[in-house]
Amino acid sequence: MTVPVRTLDDGAWISVNNARAVSNSAVWPVAGVEFCDCEVAHLLPESFYDVSVDRDTVAVGTIVQCIDCGGHGTIDALPVGRVVNGEFREFDTGAIRSPAAGDQ
Ligand SMILES: [Zn+2]
Repeated sequence: MTVPVRTLDDGAWISVNNARAVSNSAVWPVAGVEFCDCEVAHLLPESFYDVSVDRDTVAVGTIVQCIDCGGHGTIDALPVGRVVNGEFREFDTGAIRSPAAGDQ
């Protein structure tokens, strides 16, 4: 089963299954980013430039800013949620995320 995913509104949103699923208005705690030294960086996604599905995991490519140190960078594949029985379920926004393994 293929789940259609795409970016919307010049990268302000991620669409999953033709429904708006993820916006660039949340702050995500992310561990292991390369562009700043924060152990857990709190990242504000400024825009999404890519979205993909690997098995059931939806990952985004995004330009982010760390609100802890002000660092800027990009993450090519940051898992943001899963597709379960055809429905997108975003990860808990308080849970620490990390870039997809093997992507760096
Ligand atoms: Zn930082």
